[in-house]
Amino acid sequence: MVEQTFIFIKPDGVERGLSETILQKFTDNNFKILHIKELTLTKEMADIHYNEHVDKPFYPDLLSFITRGPIIAAIMEKENAVEEARVLVGATNPAEAEEGTIRKEFGKNTGENVIHASDSEKSAESEIQHFFPDYVT
Ligand code: UDP
Ligand code: MG
Repeated sequence: MVEQTFIFIKPDGVERGLSETILQKFTDNNFKILHIKELTLTKEMADIHYNEHVDKPFYPDLLSFITRGPIIAAIMEKENAVEEARVLVGATNPAEAEEGTIRKEFGKNTGENVIHASDSEKSAESEIQHFFPDYVT
């Protein structure tokens, strides 16, 4: 089924000038970019987005990393988009990511791993709503 997922290029990826290269990997893999925008996350937005992690020991570092500069957020469409995007992105820890994945190629470590992608259809839906509140399916 054609579905939508949500991704963002994290501040490390934007700072390093990797945005175009990363987006190209999506379009080369037949994802269609439906909406795209640059924004800088506030603490409030980060707390909502990373709600499942706010009490974890790594959260203070994650919060300062993810709010330190602009991100590029996008809605991507493809057959089986949620799963396909997670495959293209690769494992959370770049050292454990498969060859050919974005995190394997560009990620520095488990924190600075250049990109986020929704992990389920349910989170894709809520993350799209959160980042693109004006977007109506
Ligand atoms: N993260 C971190 N330290 C950890 C685990 C996660 O800094 O030990 C960060 C990392 O940027 C990761 C994000 O928190 O991408 C969300 O973690 P999750 O386990 O949900 O990984 P993801 O879904 O991004 O692969
Ligand atoms: Mg996750």
